[in-house]
Amino acid sequence: MSKIIIAGNWKMNLNVSQSSLLVHRLQERIKIHRDIEVILAPSMLALQPLSLQIDRRKFKLAAQDAYFQDQGACTGEVSFTMLRDLVHYCIIGHSERRYTFNESQESITKKVAAAYRNEITPILCVGETKAERLNGEANQVLHDQVVTALANVTSLEVERLVIAYEPVWSVGSGEFAKPHQVETAVRTIRNNISELYGEQAAKEVKVLYGGSVMADIASGYLNIRGIDGLLVGEASLNYQQFAGIVDAAYRKVHKLTPKGE
Ligand code: PEP
Repeated sequence: MSKIIIAGNWKMNLNVSQSSLLVHRLQERIKIHRDIEVILAPSMLALQPLSLQIDRRKFKLAAQDAYFQDQGACTGEVSFTMLRDLVHYCIIGHSERRYTFNESQESITKKVAAAYRNEITPILCVGETKAERLNGEANQVLHDQVVTALANVTSLEVERLVIAYEPVWSVGSGEFAKPHQVETAVRTIRNNISELYGEQAAKEVKVLYGGSVMADIASGYLNIRGIDGLLVGEASLNYQQFAGIVDAAYRKVHKLTPKGE
């Protein structure tokens, strides 16, 4: 069985010392797991100090975003090139970037290519808005987001890809996606990959779910067919919640009954 991924997106929260304290607490609570990859995505500012603090057997680091140009006159930006020895992963196309910062599909395509060019694995976020779901457009939206983002990705590269299915209406809202909605979306995503790169690639790609996941419902989402892990926002800021989610992954790997059942 391939590794389950549990990723925490800390968004624009925690200064450097608060980030360090959270890592300290997580490090105490979370054991080394061979079958689970735990990824932390702190603010850009905290990446460097945390890279010295984390137990690399327990955690990998991700950036929350980066710019597609490797260097140059781009005031305020940080490039994938600058991050290449610091992080294993980078979140790309998060809905908050797509909608709050009007990030275009074209920019996301370039960022995915820049990540691969700099040996950073993309965690590509895709997902439909509420209106798109109500209009019956969810599958088409996912198709367009996946196909466009991967325009420059080779079949060798795609096998390392992580895609997070994050319905926009569920991110940070406390509104929960139903298992059948997630299962259908994941099937659509894998079918899109299969059409582009073949069935083997569609199996290799890791697909995560993200949207208001908390420790008590994590195992429900982890058990959905085709899901390889979770991308967690708010709950990743609370060490007990996040450790509880990692625990749910451990229980799945070791076929133990979910806590509380
Ligand atoms: C996210 O930011 O990717 C996310 C899923 O957030 P939340 O868990 O808070 O909905």
